[in-house]
Amino acid sequence: MTIAFLAYLAAWRESFVDAKKILLVEDNPVNRRLAVFLLRSQGYQVREATTASEAFEILQTDHPDLIVMDIQLPGMDGLEATKKLKEQPAMADIPVVAVTSYAMKGDREKALAAGCAGYVTKPINKNIFLQEIAVHVGARATAPSPLSSPPFSGERKGEGE
Ligand code: MN
Repeated sequence: MTIAFLAYLAAWRESFVDAKKILLVEDNPVNRRLAVFLLRSQGYQVREATTASEAFEILQTDHPDLIVMDIQLPGMDGLEATKKLKEQPAMADIPVVAVTSYAMKGDREKALAAGCAGYVTKPINKNIFLQEIAVHVGARATAPSPLSSPPFSGERKGEGE
């Protein structure tokens, strides 16, 4: 093996170590496949859940950098799931981007009130979707320095509005 190849392998491994992890909660297989495709195309590591309870099961052992949450889910809906998630200190810092199929007046406010950091509507527009993810995926401070401002303050758009 050459040095260049070893360097390539190291960079390749690094790309996985550094990849942001996203939990996608979406019951519709077509929408899920599209979202997974778009997210992986940006280098995100994606885990999939089809219901809120499946998502909570994953969250017992995994701590993703962001959750993409479909609002219309069978059983517990995405808003309820987000509220529940935000009540749990171990999960509360994970930004949630809501995805909803009908953009009715007040839906955005409801999503933000539930604790969602962002909101996009279906049908998914590739650029808007990825931009919203990119804005919020880095919103959680991973290693706040003691001199920096308190973590998360002013970054959670959904609170206090
Ligand atoms: Mn759905």
